Amino acid sequence: MKMNTYFHPFVIPFSLGVLFLFATLIFKYVRWYLGLTSDEKLLIRKSLFTVKSLKAVKECFTECLLHLKIYKVNLRLGYMHMSLAFGWFLLILVGQLETATYLANDFVPLYVHVFFRYFFPIAPEGVVHNIDYAPLMDALLLIILISVGLAMTKRLKSKLLGMKKTTRHTLGDRLALSSLWLIFPARLLAESATCGAHGGGSFLTSSVGDLMANICPVDMIELPLWWLYSIVLGIFMVSLPFSRYLHIFAEIPHIFLKNYGVRAKNEKSTVDDFQIAACSRCGICIDPCQMQSSAGVNNMQSVYFLRDCRQGTLEYKTADNCLMCGRCEQRCPVGIDLNTIRLNRRQGTLLRLGTNPYSYANQLDTSSGSGKVGYFAGCMTSLSPRILHSMDRIFESARENVWNADRDGGICCGRPLMLAGDIDGARKMMQMNTELFRKHQIETLVTSCPICLKVFKEEYNLQGIRVLHHSEYILELISQGRLSVKNNGNLVTYHDPCELGRGSGIYAAPREVIEAVASLREADEHSEHSLCCGSSLANTVIGTPQAYKIASDAAACFESTGAQTLITSCPLCKKAFAKVSQIPVKDLSELVCESLICK
Ligand code: SF4
Ligand code: SF4
Repeated sequence: MKMNTYFHPFVIPFSLGVLFLFATLIFKYVRWYLGLTSDEKLLIRKSLFTVKSLKAVKECFTECLLHLKIYKVNLRLGYMHMSLAFGWFLLILVGQLETATYLANDFVPLYVHVFFRYFFPIAPEGVVHNIDYAPLMDALLLIILISVGLAMTKRLKSKLLGMKKTTRHTLGDRLALSSLWLIFPARLLAESATCGAHGGGSFLTSSVGDLMANICPVDMIELPLWWLYSIVLGIFMVSLPFSRYLHIFAEIPHIFLKNYGVRAKNEKSTVDDFQIAACSRCGICIDPCQMQSSAGVNNMQSVYFLRDCRQGTLEYKTADNCLMCGRCEQRCPVGIDLNTIRLNRRQGTLLRLGTNPYSYANQLDTSSGSGKVGYFAGCMTSLSPRILHSMDRIFESARENVWNADRDGGICCGRPLMLAGDIDGARKMMQMNTELFRKHQIETLVTSCPICLKVFKEEYNLQGIRVLHHSEYILELISQGRLSVKNNGNLVTYHDPCELGRGSGIYAAPREVIEAVASLREADEHSEHSLCCGSSLANTVIGTPQAYKIASDAAACFESTGAQTLITSCPLCKKAFAKVSQIPVKDLSELVCESLICK
C-alpha cells in the first residue's frame, strides 16, 4: 500500500513548510537583487561566467558546510557547526542516492526522499542493489545528533564550547531553534519505530527500534512519530526566514557577491541586506568586543546590531555606541563588512547642522612652507605638540622641504564626520582639502594620524599623490639613508592603532622603525588582534568612565610585557593611554626623534 501510492497525509506539514520557505526566499532574493545599483548588477553579470564563480563555489563548500574559519577561531564551535551543516548535507545527498537506487531513478516528490524509511523500510521486491546505504545513513544521523547535543550544551554552558558569552534569541530564533533541535531526535524515533515494526535499518535505528519494540507497541506509535517529524520540519521551514537560520540561504549569495567585488559601500544599495541576512549569529564577535569585556555594555555588539537591522528595530544607541575598532569584523567568519554597514545605518540617526554649516571653510588656506612633500598633521596631532616637534626634527634631519597643510589651522580630513554619519558634510571637507593639495602641487602626502590616512586613501581622489603614514615615511627615510638613527636598546612595546592596523593593514612599517631604534616586546594581543584605546571618535555615545576602563584594561596588557615605554602611532591613542598607563607613552615619531644622530 505504502509503496504503490508514495503518499500519506503526514507529509503535508513538511511539504507546506518547503513551499512557504522557497516562496519567501525567492521574494527576498528578487527584492534584494532589484535594490542593487546598476554598477553592482553589471559587475555581477560580468563576473558570472568567470573563475570568480568557481572560487565562490569553493568558498561556499569550505565556509557554509565545513565552517573552516570558525574552526580557526574555535575548534569545538567549528566542529559543532561543521557536523551539523555538513552532516545534514550528506544525509540529504546520500538519501537522494539511496532513493535513486531503490526507485531506478524514477521521479518522486521531495517528501519521498525525506520520509524514505517510512515508504521503504526494507528493499522492495525485485530491487537489486550493491550498496547498503542504511549503515551510512545511521552513522550520519548519529554525527548530527551529537552536534545537536553540543548545540544544547553551548546554550546551557557556553564556556564548555570555548565562548564567554552566547547570543540572546528572538521569538523567531527560539521557534526555529527548538524545532531544529527536535528534527533529528524525531527522525531517529520515527525511523526506529518503523524498523521495530517492519525490520530494516542499521546499527542505530535497528537497535533503537528493537528497544522500542520491547517496551511499547511500535506499530501504534510509528505514524504519530512520522507526523511529529514532519511537523517539526514544517515549523523549522516556516520559522527559518524570520530567524537567524536565514543565514543558511543568505550566505551563499553573499559569498558570490564578495567574490565578484560587490561589497558594502557608503551608498544606497541592498548589498547591506544580503550581508545582514548572512549573519549566522554565531556570536564570535561578542568576546573580542571591549565594549562588552571592559565597559560592560552588552547590547550593541555586531550580532545584536545586525539582528536589529534585520528586524527593523535598530535604535541610534545600538548603532552609535561602537568604537568601530574592527575587532569583530576581523574575527567574523562570514566576512561581513560590519563597520561599513554600521556607518550606513548611522546616517539616519545624526542631528543635522543646517544646510551648509561648513561654508566658513571655503577658500581657507592657512598652510605654510613649500615642497613636494605635504604634511597633514591632523586635528589630534595639532593638539600633541611633541609629535609636531618630533616630525619637524625628522623633516629637518632628512633635509626635506615640506609644505605644512594644517600647521596654522586647517580643515579637518572629514573622517570624524563620516564616522558620525554626516557623509554630505564629510564630502564637502574632502573636496576643499583635495583642491588645497592640488593647488600646492604636492607629490607625497604624509600624515601622523591613522584616521586621516584611511580617509585620504579610501575616500579622496588623490591620483598622482602618494599617501603615507608617518611610520611608512620614516621607514623610507631610514632605508634610503636619509635619516641617521642609533639603537638605544630600550625595551618598548607597541600598540597598533585600530585605523592604522586593521583599518589600513599597516603593521610592519612601525615595527621595522622600532627595531631600528629600540628593542620590541609584543603584547599578548597585537597586530590584527590589537586592543582599542577606547577613545575612538566613532563612538558618540560612550561615557568617559567607560572609555577610561577600556583604555586602562588595554594599558594593563601592555604593562604586563615588562616594557619601559608604550609606543603608538596615533595621536588619539597616545592621549588615551597617557591618562591611564603606568609606563610612559610615546608616539613613534618621538621615539625616532630621541634616537636621531645629528650630523
Ligand atoms: S557578525 Fe559575524 S561573528 Fe558576529 S554573529 Fe554574525 S556571523 Fe558571527
Ligand atoms: S567595532 Fe569594536 S566596539 Fe564596535 S562592536 Fe565591533 S568589537 Fe565592539
